[in-house]
Amino acid sequence: MDILVVGSVAFDSVETPFGQADEVLGGSATYFSTSASYFSNVAMVAVVGEDFPVEHEVMLKEKNIDLAGLQRVKGGETFRWKGRYEYDLNQAHTLETHLNVFESFSPELPEEYKKIPYVFLANIDPELQLKVLEQVENPKLVACDTMNFWIEGKQDKLRELLKKVDMFVINEGEAREFSDEASLVRAARHILDCGPHTVIIKRGEYGALMFKDDEVFNAPAYPMEDIFDPTGAGDSFAGGLMGYLANTGDLSEEGLRKAIIIGSTMASFNVEAFSLNRLKDLTLDEINLRYKAFKRLTHFEEL
Ligand code: AMP
Repeated sequence: MDILVVGSVAFDSVETPFGQADEVLGGSATYFSTSASYFSNVAMVAVVGEDFPVEHEVMLKEKNIDLAGLQRVKGGETFRWKGRYEYDLNQAHTLETHLNVFESFSPELPEEYKKIPYVFLANIDPELQLKVLEQVENPKLVACDTMNFWIEGKQDKLRELLKKVDMFVINEGEAREFSDEASLVRAARHILDCGPHTVIIKRGEYGALMFKDDEVFNAPAYPMEDIFDPTGAGDSFAGGLMGYLANTGDLSEEGLRKAIIIGSTMASFNVEAFSLNRLKDLTLDEINLRYKAFKRLTHFEEL
């Protein structure tokens, strides 16, 4: 296995200006691993309740995602998130968060997960992210994500975690909130001073910015005619990014640039439908074609 992910597996209820979905499959680990599965083998550490239908597990297994680290709690209820988006689809408004089985979850890595080289700590309680990190041995790359819920509720733990990760993937609003800086350049500098050598700021329909040493890479998002549901875009982005990095092993600046465009490609598919309905059935040809469209989108000649 190439990638270890810990994160949420959820039932999401989502309203957008274009429709709504109730209690559909979601969660940061679910979106991440489905996206990454097109490029690498993923092992998932998470928890669900007794109410989690077997068909969701079957779908994940069909994508070759290893579920030996997925705990199922007898009598427990799966994590639930309810959110709404208005016309500004970049901004999710959380209406409800029910941690349920996550409240008493303690991640235990199966022995065969401990030496997995690429680790992604998807959006989840930073204490759980730290517990996973304590169990891995000599990872090649550790990346993590978070959200305002944890920046506001557990910032000390998040700062402790950042000292131990190589790459921080965070969205624009949360980067500003975390750093207390309006400028994204200053926000990125603040984050780099906390520990990671690379920070990637996700900017929704405006793309993503990578800061590494003195380099900045500005990747566009794919211009979409219709966006049905942005939920999971950030995790699909991270899944494509990590999936590609683990597949190639190329952590150079150029390798990272390509991985970010693969991440943007996967996010652009994900927003075309609610839940994982688009993300789960892609072909490599579709992914390649859209990657090429990205290349064309940003290509220009020297003067
Ligand atoms: P994103 O990729 O940022 O749109 O993340 C969306 C996913 O994050 C949803 O499927 C939610 O189930 C999940 N989520 C929302 N709030 C939390 C939270 N506090 N902890 C972990 N996962 C969450």
